[in-house]
Amino acid sequence: MGKLLEQLKDTNTKQKALLCSLKSSCQFCSGRGFRLLTRGAYTCAEVCSCVQSCSACFGKAQILDGKIASPCKTPSPVKLCGLINNAQIPARYTNACLSDFTNTNGNGKEILLKLRAWLNHFKTKEDQGFIISGPVGVGKTFILAAITKALIARGFKTQFIDFFQLISQIKACYANKQSEQTLIAPLIDVDVLIIDELGKGRNTEFELTILDQLIMGRYNQNKAIVASTNCSIQAKKETLTKNFYEIPLDQKSESQQSSMLDFGTLEDRVGSRIYSRLMETTISFELTGNDYRKQKGSSWTVH
Ligand SMILES: [Zn+2]
Ligand SMILES: [Zn+2]
Repeated sequence: MGKLLEQLKDTNTKQKALLCSLKSSCQFCSGRGFRLLTRGAYTCAEVCSCVQSCSACFGKAQILDGKIASPCKTPSPVKLCGLINNAQIPARYTNACLSDFTNTNGNGKEILLKLRAWLNHFKTKEDQGFIISGPVGVGKTFILAAITKALIARGFKTQFIDFFQLISQIKACYANKQSEQTLIAPLIDVDVLIIDELGKGRNTEFELTILDQLIMGRYNQNKAIVASTNCSIQAKKETLTKNFYEIPLDQKSESQQSSMLDFGTLEDRVGSRIYSRLMETTISFELTGNDYRKQKGSSWTVH
C-alpha cells in the first residue's frame, strides 16, 4: 500500500513537472504563448517569456515523451510566430481585430456579421475567399489585417500584400537582376493571399501581367484569395467615360478620388479574364460608411 502511494506521489510530481507554463495564465500573452510587436513597417511576433522560460518544454511548446512530441498548444505558438513574421501585416494594423471595428455609420455591423460567418465557414485553403469593396477610408485595410491575423491564429499560412507596393518591389527586383518569380512564387505558395488595393495603380500591361500570374497561379491550385478594392465590383461600364482610365489615379481631383464609381469597375481595372476568375472563387461584400480619416472624435482608431 505504502509502495502504491509512493508511486502515485511520484506520478503526480512528474505530471506537475511536465505541465507547460502555457496552461497557466500569463499577464503578457493571456495564454496565447506569443506577443505581437512591430519591426519596421511590419507586425512581428515573438514567443512569450512564459514559454521561453518554461521548465517543461524549454520554449519549444512541445513535450517529448520518448520519441513522441506532443504540442502544449495547437497551433503551436512557435509556429504562429513564424506565420506572423512572414505575413507582412502592416505595423499600423498590429492590433487590428474585428471586434475593434466600430465604423458602423454605414453598413459596418452587417458586414462584420458576414465576415464572421465567412471565417466560421472557411475550413480549408480551397474554400471561397471574399472581396470587400468600398470607398476610401471606411476601414477595408483594417478588416483585411484583422482577417489575416484571424486566419493565422487558426494555423493558415497567410500573406498580406498591398498590390501597389508589390509592383514597386518587383521593379526593385529587376534592378537587382532578379526574376519577379522570387516574389511571386511565395505568394502563390501560401494558403491564403490577402491583396489590399486590388485594381489600384496605372493598369499598365506590366501590372496586369503580374496580377494575371498571381491570380491564375492561385486559381490553378485552388487556393483562396481575399482582397479589398476601391472599385465597384458590379459592372457599371456604361456610366463611365472612356478616357477616365487614361488619367492616372493620383492626378484625379479629390472629388473624383473619393467617389467610388470614379475608380471604375473592377472588371474594367483588372480585365475580364482576371475578373471572372475572381468572381468564381470569391464572394463580394460592399462596405459603406464615412471616411474615418475625416471624422472628428471617431469612436474607432487604427493603430
Ligand atoms: Zn512549455
Ligand atoms: Zn506569456
